[in-house]
Formats: sequence, C-alpha cells, structure tokens
Amino acid sequence: MKSLAAFDQQHIWHPFTQHRDWLALEPLVIERGEGFELIDVEGRRYLDGVSSLWCNVHGHSHPRLLAALHEQVDRLCHSTLLGLTHQPIIEATRRLLQTVPGGLTRVFYSDSGSAAVEAAIRIALEWWQKEPRAVGRARRKLLSLANGYHGDTLGAVGLGYLEVFHRDLSENVIPSLKVPPPHLFRFYEGDDPDEAEARALAVAREVIETQADTIAALVVEPMVQGAAGIWPHSARYLQQLVQLCREHGILVVADEVATGFGKTGRMFACELAGIEPDVLVVGKSLTAGYLALSAVLTTEPIFEGFLGEPGELKTFFYGQTYCGNPLAARVTSENLALFAEEQVIESLPATFRQYHALLTEHIEPLPQVAEVRRVGVMTGIELTSEPGRCVPFESNQRVGLRVVAEARARGVIIRPLGNVIVLMPAIRMSTAELERLVRVTAEAITAAGPL
Ligand SMILES: *Cc1c(COP(=O)(O)O)cnc(C)c1O
Repeated sequence: MKSLAAFDQQHIWHPFTQHRDWLALEPLVIERGEGFELIDVEGRRYLDGVSSLWCNVHGHSHPRLLAALHEQVDRLCHSTLLGLTHQPIIEATRRLLQTVPGGLTRVFYSDSGSAAVEAAIRIALEWWQKEPRAVGRARRKLLSLANGYHGDTLGAVGLGYLEVFHRDLSENVIPSLKVPPPHLFRFYEGDDPDEAEARALAVAREVIETQADTIAALVVEPMVQGAAGIWPHSARYLQQLVQLCREHGILVVADEVATGFGKTGRMFACELAGIEPDVLVVGKSLTAGYLALSAVLTTEPIFEGFLGEPGELKTFFYGQTYCGNPLAARVTSENLALFAEEQVIESLPATFRQYHALLTEHIEPLPQVAEVRRVGVMTGIELTSEPGRCVPFESNQRVGLRVVAEARARGVIIRPLGNVIVLMPAIRMSTAELERLVRVTAEAITAAGPL
C-alpha cells in the first residue's frame, strides 16, 4: 500500500497544493465511497465533510445513481454534441428546465464550472457585439464582486483575480471591474451590517452609474461567495445590485456552480435572493457529484442574438470535446429525479436547523473561532489568533492544515481555505452524521490551535 502513496508523491501534481506540504503528510489513497463515507485502501473510513469538493448530494455509490450509470455504460459512453445529439442529454435538459427559475429556456453544456463560466462571459460579451442595433458595442467589460471565485481559466480568473494566487499572471489576465461585497471582516470591520451593506451598494452605484455604457454583465455568486471563505450577503443587497444593473442595461449572470442544487436551502440561491438572472451557470452538484458536467442556461432573447446567416459570424464558436457527455447526462437526470421524488428541497429546513444548532453549540464557543458563517450547508469557520477579535493566523503557521490533519486522525475529511475551515456536508447527510462532523471539527480545532 505504501507504494501507491510513494508513487503519487513522486509523479502526481495535485491541484491547489503546495507539494512541500503534500510530502510531509502520508497521502490518503481512497478506494471506495459508501454513503457519506470515503474508504481508503487500508479499509479506514472517513466522513466526507466537504462532499468531495462541494459536489456530492445523495451520497457515494447510491444504488439508483449507479444503476442509471450501469445502464448507460452498456449503451453509449460518449458521442459528441457537435452536429449530433443524444437521448440522455435531451432528458437531462428536460428535467433541468423544470427545476430552474422562470425565463431560462436554452441550455449550453460544458464539462467544468470554469469552462461554463467562460462560456457565460463569452455569451454576454459577444451578445452585445452582435446586437443588431449596435447600441452596446462599447460594453466590453465585466463587473464582479471582490474576492469572488468563478474558476481557473484565464477569463474566469479575470472575474476573481486574487493577488496571492494570480500575481504572476497579472499581465495576462483582463481584470473585471470589482466592487466590494458587504462583508464585515475584510472590508468594513466595525460597521454594523446595514451600514456595511449601504456602503457596498454606494460603491456599486458609483461604478455602475459612471461606467454602465462599458459594462456587458455582472457575474455574481448569489447569496454566498463560496471560495472567498463562505462570505454571505443578504437577499436585499443582491436585489438592489441586480436592480442597479437592470436600470443600466447590464446583463446579470448568476454563477451557481457552488450554490446550486439545494446547498442554500432552495434549489438555486437565486430563488432565495428573489432575483431572475439572464444567465445561470451550474456545475458541481449537477451530476450529484458523480461525473464532470456543467451548463449555462439562458433566455430566448440572449440565444436569438446568436442566430444569423453563416457569413454574419453570429455562431457561438465555443465548446469542449466532452461537453454533454451521455454518462454525465444520464446521472444528472437520475439526480434530478431523486430531488423530485424524495422531496429533497422540502426536507432541508429541518436538517439545516439541526445542523446550525450543532454549529452554535460546538464550534461558536471555541476561543480559536472568530465567526461561523453559514448559509444552508455552506459553512465557513473563521479562525482567530486572538479570542474575541478577528486576527488571522500567519499563513506559515499552517493552522488550517493542522486542523485538517487532526480531523483526519479522527476519521473526518475537511479542507481549509486559508484561515477559514470550510464544512460543506452533502445536503442529504443524516443528523447523526452532521453531529459527527461538527463534533470532530470542534475537537480538531481545539487540538490544533494553540492560542
Ligand atoms: C467551483 C466553482 C467554479 C469552478 O468550477 P470547476 O468545475 O472547478 O471548474 C466556478 N464558480 C464557482 C462559484 C465555484 O464554486
């Protein structure tokens, strides 16, 4: 068994991983998944506390999802959407359109959240260039929230540019216009939430009113900025931001790659926010966390902007080889069928109430914890080196990694985002499993964080 880990350490380059740290820890070699547990090659079981990077919904090796996949494997594993179509993608689209907010009627498929965000911003930018009245030709910029995350392709990085991750690319990325979200810790420490929101909106208004003629679209993670460290904002803030965009003709793109499929308590965070985007991007949990598939949904007027004679060059020249893969499409349909048949969304308020009570009881009182931010299952535990205040640990103290290691030793997988410990349980975890997750996380923080 050791040789698997050793081979990995010698040859595999892991994402978002400093390999000096990776070498310091024995890699966990996962062999199987059962329900909400991952099982390694030595038979040790771990609770999957981040739903396999924010994807898993109904658990691993779910019999219905597996049966659907087996059936599809025997028929067709891949065929292209370029010039052809197939039944699994048609069925998945039919089901998807039943779940999304009104007005969205066209679905463009991709194979990752990043590639779908890239498609969405190209659709928005090109739509203004192709617009027949030529009133929007100057709209070539994108607007986003500071510290947003929209993926890792260069276009997506432009929306979510972060100095610490991307400084070596600063000459190669086209940054979007950024407005600060109403997040208390990082931008408005000391303000009360209403005041922070009013100030954030005032900045947005200033930017939009002075530059609207050059802005094609707002791209936003509705209700909570996930990879920023779980930063929630209010529905009222988002409604007002969207309203400002509407008043100035700016398209609204909702990136629900993280928030979609129940994580906030509604099928989509847009419903929670009470907004209707022109473009909706989904990924991660679309396939219940089983295979790579993402989608961009849009309205008929946006789609029609791309209709024309070949010579007009209105075609959307974009697509990935494996976009709309039939296996991924088949498991998507089964995922959405489970959502409907088992009334998953309806069951969430009770689950979330219990989960939030556990966080309040076990995590909030810890002296190492400054704040526990939560929207549905999306949870960010902000660690502090000074009780009662929010003072991040130095990054070379690796507190996040230490907490993760302590949790792993206790049979729970979690991940840090810098100074924030993220919990992202699958929405269908049982109360007993949620309790195990929260208790072990509390023990791990206590064990790892000397003040
Ligand atoms: C994860 C994520 C993405 C990128 O998705 P990938 O499948 O990793 O490319 C984009 N936007 C948001 C909000 C995400 O959380």
